[in-house]
Amino acid sequence: MKSLPVVRPQGVRYERDSTFSYACHACGRCCYHKIIHLNPYEVARLAQNRGISTTEFLSHYTAANGTAVKQQNDGACIFLTSQGCGVHSDRPLVCRLYPLGRQVTAEAEEWFSETAPHPESEGEYSTDGTVEEFLTTQGAQPFIEAVDRYVELVGQMSHVLLTKTIHDAKAQQHVEELIEGFVQGQDQEISVMLDMDQIVGRFCADQGVPIPSNVNEKMDLHIQVVEEWLHNE
Ligand code: SF4
Repeated sequence: MKSLPVVRPQGVRYERDSTFSYACHACGRCCYHKIIHLNPYEVARLAQNRGISTTEFLSHYTAANGTAVKQQNDGACIFLTSQGCGVHSDRPLVCRLYPLGRQVTAEAEEWFSETAPHPESEGEYSTDGTVEEFLTTQGAQPFIEAVDRYVELVGQMSHVLLTKTIHDAKAQQHVEELIEGFVQGQDQEISVMLDMDQIVGRFCADQGVPIPSNVNEKMDLHIQVVEEWLHNE
């Protein structure tokens, strides 16, 4: 007998101490036709997983000008294999959170809610855990910290680009188009600032210092360099 489609509560707000548990059985059905957005930390983790630079990774494995994971012809994520996720230890945050989504307000208030699962997903829900425990088992916290830092950085970039040309209507329009292009994943000029290896590599060569091998240290340096660039604009 065919099993009934999975139906889950939508729009219910969960805190970290809310009851929630989910066990993925790697059926892979959730890895089709999804836009998996990427930030520079996620790109760096995936590039390290593949043994290549972030510049090479962005060119081979991403779409929308480096802001999302590429898909195969049938809509499967480029990393989906017959054995499941081919980059499991370095998978992006959205894959770690699934089937939860995370929202953060401008005041840094955080909450979670369930996303609609694939109707034939083999994942199992239960009530013997909390959201916090689920996040821990998924190794989500470093990715959450990274996304929050990069959201703030992109906000700073937008602010600087918008305010520096405020008196020039034509330039203002150009900058707004640039930001829109970046948000839509179409603008090369801003996107290059988010290529961690390229930016950190250039900085370290200029300063005559070694490039950090640790992704977290490289991220710290990347954010520092972009912030310095913003303050000098
Ligand atoms: S990165 Fe892995 S878990 Fe995420 S969609 Fe791709 S195959 Fe699925």
